[in-house]
Amino acid sequence: MIEVTLLGTGSPVPDAHRAGPSTLVRAGHQTLLIDCGRGVQQRMAGAETSATALTALLLTHLHSDHIADLGDLLITRWISNFDPQLPPLPIIGPPGTAEVVSATLRAFGHDIGYRMKHHADLTTPPQVDVKEATEGVVWDVDGASVVLAGDTVPCESLDELAAGAGAMVHTVIRKELIAQLPQQRIREICEYHSSPQEAGATAERAGVGILILTHYLPPVQPGQEDEWRAQAATTFSRQIEVGDDLHRVQVHPGVGSARFGTSP
Ligand SMILES: [Zn+2]
Repeated sequence: MIEVTLLGTGSPVPDAHRAGPSTLVRAGHQTLLIDCGRGVQQRMAGAETSATALTALLLTHLHSDHIADLGDLLITRWISNFDPQLPPLPIIGPPGTAEVVSATLRAFGHDIGYRMKHHADLTTPPQVDVKEATEGVVWDVDGASVVLAGDTVPCESLDELAAGAGAMVHTVIRKELIAQLPQQRIREICEYHSSPQEAGATAERAGVGILILTHYLPPVQPGQEDEWRAQAATTFSRQIEVGDDLHRVQVHPGVGSARFGTSP
């Protein structure tokens, strides 16, 4: 069984009640973090996990809202670990990930230096193992399956990745509302995000078991959950989850193996 926890359901717009985009997937003894938006580690604490418990970090894409707390995550995992056997943190993301990770570690270079100087048992800087992937399955786990869609419009590669998955976590924006805003830069985000109806259609085509919506823009206001669910239900006939931060969804074994793909 896989458990999906929406850690942060926000977007780039700061929100008093929603952390930035990030999702936790627990499968057996594996704990995967997908994206690390602002406030991710506070939400991880809320989900009773921590940086040192992570099996891997997967990045859907390199927008700031999805990697805002990368530095904090790497430093925290490093200084709160007392296990000399802790392996380097596997980080899988799109092209550019290696550059972003090394630049982030460089940005914290002074801090890393201070701490290594002061604590004799910190003998190396934070250890990471970065792999870049462009398409297809990036993490394989036996049993149930979950697909994480990043900021995306419907596309063929996502259809292929999602085919037969137990669940799909999909970012969504209400295009009919965003399209009315006066600022062109904000309206342009419609070009690379899906509406609930489009996310539903993708999930329906792929035969996904559960559609989990996240990255709500504008933020879902209390009492509006049914409205978002109803829009996705116009195109998707099975279970639809709309939730706040720390909303948990259980995914039971279905067809196929686990697919944690990136679809930027
Ligand atoms: Zn985003």
